[in-house]
Amino acid sequence: MICKFCSPKKEILWENERVFVVFGRPHHKGHVEVVLKEHHEILEEISEELAKDFFYDAFRVSQVMKNVLRANRINFELLGNWVPHLHWHIIPRFEEDKDFENPPEIPKKTEKYERKNLTEEEIETIKKELKKI
Ligand SMILES: [Zn+2]
Repeated sequence: MICKFCSPKKEILWENERVFVVFGRPHHKGHVEVVLKEHHEILEEISEELAKDFFYDAFRVSQVMKNVLRANRINFELLGNWVPHLHWHIIPRFEEDKDFENPPEIPKKTEKYERKNLTEEEIETIKKELKKI
């Protein structure tokens, strides 16, 4: 089965044999998704080895996002509801976020929200630093 995550239209920021990284919707500054290339709908069905490697990939990506954007912390989210590609949402959090003390507010796809876009320079730095991991 080929789906939109098998052939992503978004620019791939980094990839290895297991995962690729793309920007998520910019409801939070620097929100990226670390997407498993194999088809799996739920975390419970993957092997322990793949689970470890998948989280390690997400962890390394999160370190880059935290350092480049000087985030106060990173939130990780993995839901497994509707696309057959498990993906970590890596959500940098900043003290100035209005929901900083709480889980990130994720607007529904149909909802309007304030876009927290990155600068060209931040995007270039993120790509450069991801190449080193
Ligand atoms: Zn697919």
